[in-house]
Amino acid sequence: MTPISRRTVLGGAAAALGSAGWIAKAAVDPRSADLIVRNARIYTMEPSAPTAQAFAVRDGRILAVGSNEAIGGLAGKGTDVFDARGMAVVPGFIDCHLHPEGETLLYEVLVGNPFDVEFVTIDSIVAKLKERAAKTPPGQWVQGFFYDDTKVKDGRPLNRADLDRVSTVHPVAVIHRGGHTAFFNSKAFQLAGITKDTPQPFGGTFDHDSNGELNGRVTDNAQDVLWKAGNWPKYSDSETAERAKAGIAHMSRQFARYGLTTVHHEGGNFSALLQVRADGELLHRVSYEPDQAMTDAMIANGWRTGFGDEWIRLGATSEHIVDGSFSERTMSIRAGYPGRESYHGNVTTTQADLDAWVEKVWRAGIQPNCHTNGDVAIDMYLTSLERAQRLFPRRDVRPKFTHATLAYGELIARMKALDAVPALFTSYAFYNPDKFEFYGETLMEHMMPYRSYLDAGIRVAGGSDFPPGPFAPLMAIQGMVTRTGWNGKTWGANQRVSVDEALRIFTSNGAYNSHEEHLKGSIAAGKLADFVVLSEDPHAVDPGKINAIQVVRTVAGGRTTYAA
Ligand SMILES: [Zn+2]
Repeated sequence: MTPISRRTVLGGAAAALGSAGWIAKAAVDPRSADLIVRNARIYTMEPSAPTAQAFAVRDGRILAVGSNEAIGGLAGKGTDVFDARGMAVVPGFIDCHLHPEGETLLYEVLVGNPFDVEFVTIDSIVAKLKERAAKTPPGQWVQGFFYDDTKVKDGRPLNRADLDRVSTVHPVAVIHRGGHTAFFNSKAFQLAGITKDTPQPFGGTFDHDSNGELNGRVTDNAQDVLWKAGNWPKYSDSETAERAKAGIAHMSRQFARYGLTTVHHEGGNFSALLQVRADGELLHRVSYEPDQAMTDAMIANGWRTGFGDEWIRLGATSEHIVDGSFSERTMSIRAGYPGRESYHGNVTTTQADLDAWVEKVWRAGIQPNCHTNGDVAIDMYLTSLERAQRLFPRRDVRPKFTHATLAYGELIARMKALDAVPALFTSYAFYNPDKFEFYGETLMEHMMPYRSYLDAGIRVAGGSDFPPGPFAPLMAIQGMVTRTGWNGKTWGANQRVSVDEALRIFTSNGAYNSHEEHLKGSIAAGKLADFVVLSEDPHAVDPGKINAIQVVRTVAGGRTTYAA
């Protein structure tokens, strides 16, 4: 029996007949459940039956949901029974935007903590990079990752002189975890031919200190010329494949540890992803968002969004970048930056180029996805989408807005009219309160505006954007519910959502984001058996303690992918 036909028989009939009816129906089928979860506080995310005590799983799908007694009837000889002893169970968490950089985690110098709030010193960064430089041939890049300018005990940003302490014979770069700025040493600038007199390029800056010297910080597009200088390590084809595979497997274990069962991947090595799955090491489902080269190949060959299966499926495109960064303060802001009104951030494309890009993807039947942080960028993307819809009408496109950070009134109404699916920063409210003072409360009332999107009827989802943001869903939910950060500061309290809404954002709205709401995002008969067991009920604890709840077990397709 295929999953679909069973859903029709059991799911459809169950809904129609009520609990007594579907038990009778199930008894007709000679096979019993593979797994029963009982004694749980289940939040199903199904409006018709939002809570339950138990459910049964067979062949990786939910067979039935109901009371302990009713579900007990589906137990047979080979059935595993998981007694949740009153713990909470929710659908598996879905992260709709991140960069699965497991290779970085495994092989590179990490100068900050990828997963949590932790303060480091500039000396510690220099020491770690020096150690790597000692093992690196002169002329080859030495890089540090997961730098966060507001998680440095020294209370000042890194600069060129700090990195000259690492090496004068290697190009050295420290990349901000936000991904839009990096800090370089003098050797890197020299190799790239950049001096203090080099003009600022389109869509980026070489920053200067008060004496007009390069201070080492380079933003957005201005980095391109630096990355072309210096030597890169060379790996054989088999080494490259092995590293990519190990990176994805490592990343998958981290996702499972935090309760994620579906993740939207921004590109990454597709072949390695397939290999990890073939080796049985893929613990989460992937909505794969192809980079530009692969998108072009899809267009040339007639491939569309949705191709694939329940584990790896082609999703929207990778984020096509329209503006700068929220956390690194280069996003577009129409009103200008507080205290610096003439600076409106970086816009990295023109309206004409964006129109052409959207049209190409739109006409090919691919779900477009643009990185739009600020109101200027959101407006530009909307303009391109409205143009495409007018010229080449298509149904159910669900254009994806990655970040959609600064939005209000008219912009949100236009997004709703297009049934846009935004994926907003998740952990930032908790992790990044130290950056919000740069924007101030007036802007923060419209930043990461989950409340405004929900109130407008938009199925807003979450996308941590890891590495920029930690991906822990419970950290994110605490921040979304309280809008209070690790430092106790609250920003934009008007955008708070309830625990139930935050769970919906991380589950059923995530499923909608990739056109997979028929498959996942809730605990209902016929859906994939993806769920998380939590040590405590997030509805019952102090909202300021949600991040302290433990993920006890993560299950994807009926298989335990993580157990504490
Ligand atoms: Zn991103």
